[in-house]
Amino acid sequence: MTPDEFRTHGKALIDWVADYLESIEERPVSPDVRPGEVRAMLPEHPPAEAEPFEAVLADLDRVIVPGLTHWQHPSFFAFFPGNSSYASILGELVSAGLGVQGMSWVTSPACTEVETLMMDWMVELLGLPERFRSTSPTGGGVIHGSASEATLASILAARWRISGGTVNRTGDTTHLVAYATSQAHSSIEKGLRIAGIGTDQLRVVPHDERFAMRADAFAELVAADVAAGLTPFWVCCNHGTTSSMAFDPTPEIAATAHQHGMWVHVDAAMSGIAALAPELRWVNQGLELADSYCTNPHKWMGVVFDCDLFYTADRAALLGALSILPEYLRSQAAESGQAIDYRDWQIPLGRRFRALKLWFTIRTGGVDDAVAMIRRHVAATQELAGLVRADDRFEVVAPHPLNLLCLALRDGDRATDALIERANATGRALFTRTVLDGRTALRFSIGGRTTDERHVRAGWDLLSSLA
Ligand SMILES: *Cc1c(COP(=O)(O)O)cnc(C)c1O
Repeated sequence: MTPDEFRTHGKALIDWVADYLESIEERPVSPDVRPGEVRAMLPEHPPAEAEPFEAVLADLDRVIVPGLTHWQHPSFFAFFPGNSSYASILGELVSAGLGVQGMSWVTSPACTEVETLMMDWMVELLGLPERFRSTSPTGGGVIHGSASEATLASILAARWRISGGTVNRTGDTTHLVAYATSQAHSSIEKGLRIAGIGTDQLRVVPHDERFAMRADAFAELVAADVAAGLTPFWVCCNHGTTSSMAFDPTPEIAATAHQHGMWVHVDAAMSGIAALAPELRWVNQGLELADSYCTNPHKWMGVVFDCDLFYTADRAALLGALSILPEYLRSQAAESGQAIDYRDWQIPLGRRFRALKLWFTIRTGGVDDAVAMIRRHVAATQELAGLVRADDRFEVVAPHPLNLLCLALRDGDRATDALIERANATGRALFTRTVLDGRTALRFSIGGRTTDERHVRAGWDLLSSLA
């Protein structure tokens, strides 16, 4: 592709993306395709000769779009949102255009310094504790691709700290024990496996009727493990569980954890962003006691995937666990302590200039847009709860302080499952299910950039007409 062709096709492609997003509501939310169907529409072998770009663009419409679940659709109520905004899409484009590798400060100083500044801006915007700032004596933050990476990084830092660094050499983790509720994210179990700690060393702490961790049960489990000669080292407090958006009582949990030198990780992947709205800052309760914390602008702030903010109050432990210094990566700047090398804050070596999409979003009014959207979604969820409660065939089955409503049919699990299937098959909305204390629930998750009360009401009308 020549530079002139790039200019021409690039402009056409920007129009194509805007057209896609502006007409998305006319499409079914999820595709009607069977496994293998998308691949079968494409040639089995790579082309022998170059094709015109127009042919590629045509296949976006013919093959790709019909094979998508439309995450930006306003009636996408599945999982949690992965919303985007035009400014953040442009930030991604620039990141690709610059094509820099930000693994160390010297490999691209602006990539590192803008990221550090964005992490500090987000401390301010979310009202996070000062100890997470890069300018604090012991803390700092980094952009990870996903909350799952943040969880793993946190486990590795905790593992390093509790062993005084010896685990880096011996790898012996047999006595370490981690804690979370059954409501916590699957990335915890995965992270523990990757870290060599294993699922048997994860204690599932009982939860209460609000699906929040029971601090008393946590304290009992820790005491029993200590009595058995084991070493409690890491606990995950959820601020907004994936299943039902439950909030664990971090202050009480941290009080027990710190008596035993444990690491407290707060996973607020979805709900932490709510703190952009000052009246919702209660989501930060207990963060001043956390050793690490993460939240995802790529879920609810209009910063297109991937953008997870990972903060720690103990960067020495994180760097102890993750820094490796071969000769070819040494630099004066890093050794003088004046520069940050983000490769030491994450699992991979290489890294993209992800801070650009956050910078573009924040500078062009994205924070006010996100606050308005968050308020709209929270209000729509509360209104929806009223509608569900007024229909005696349905039940609200979990607290709904923000933008997720879990509901079920009184007729039982089979009826709820059938309802989810029938509603999704219409293509007019998309929902996912979960199981809460053995009972099937429909998750009505409200988080699209363009989702408003009208879409929520239509989603509810669909459910009530099919029930
Ligand atoms: C979505 C979510 C995750 C996983 O986030 P990724 O960024 O997709 O890895 C982890 N924890 C919670 C509470 C979540 O809601």
